[in-house]
Amino acid sequence: MQVLALDIGGTKIAAALVIDGEVTQRQQFVTPQQNAAEGMHQALAHIVGQYQGQFDCVAVASTGIINNGVLTALNPKNLGGLAEFPLKASIARHTDKPIGLLNDVQAAACAEYKEQDATLIENFAFITVSTGVGGGIILQRQLLTEPNGVAGHIGHSLADPNGPVCGCGRRGCVEAIASGRAIESAASLWDTPCLPKEVFARFRQQDPQASAVIHRSAQAIANLIADLVISLDLQKVVIGGSVGLAEGYLPLVQTYLQQQPKFYQCQVERAFYGQDAGLIGAAWWVEHNLAKLK
Ligand SMILES: [Zn+2]
Repeated sequence: MQVLALDIGGTKIAAALVIDGEVTQRQQFVTPQQNAAEGMHQALAHIVGQYQGQFDCVAVASTGIINNGVLTALNPKNLGGLAEFPLKASIARHTDKPIGLLNDVQAAACAEYKEQDATLIENFAFITVSTGVGGGIILQRQLLTEPNGVAGHIGHSLADPNGPVCGCGRRGCVEAIASGRAIESAASLWDTPCLPKEVFARFRQQDPQASAVIHRSAQAIANLIADLVISLDLQKVVIGGSVGLAEGYLPLVQTYLQQQPKFYQCQVERAFYGQDAGLIGAAWWVEHNLAKLK
């Protein structure tokens, strides 16, 4: 099966034909910013036109939440002119093939799950710790996504009721403590402020101020994993994202998780896929859910 896969981010759109999990004919476009909704209609028309006649279905991984084919977010203001954009209907103007849409982290979770032995691992989560904190949850070998596309927004579960206010409006979310943005905001208050990359460099040199911020982040992620394991009987968690994959971070998460009672623990590994996770995962999910999409 040939899948036209799109990965729609805040700054760029990737498109490719995914054939048996292999990315081919990959192209990249700039996400329209000015007059964003009209620009997005035109960009989608152009992209679908480029691959016309070559695909059996369309798979979309997108930033935000895909609620019944419409793009939204926990805080729709963050989407600017693309808030409530009718993503599925816009693509359907140009093709009568089945169209499946997922959030980009849900799609990445599918890509990572594809690499697992499904006979052994039936409950699984992918967590990205990057600018924000996101996730995708697989239960009984199925991605949690229905009915509103919200499932997996685990970065907005509670880490500290007295913590900073999160971008979603709630106080003390995991994202407000563990994300790259949270690390940056903590470091901006220092006598010698710096960006997250430099915070990690200082952490590896055992600078106490930097260590405290990175430990706090890793501990919040370990607690999040423990909550998910005890709630959902997860067998494995895979971690990605620029913070999640930074040198020294994952061992710290593992150390904090190992301090929990046994039933809260599970295997934690680093992500296999990089930039194409969204394309590959969305394509995999659509192929496995074609009957539902028709
Ligand atoms: Zn939040």
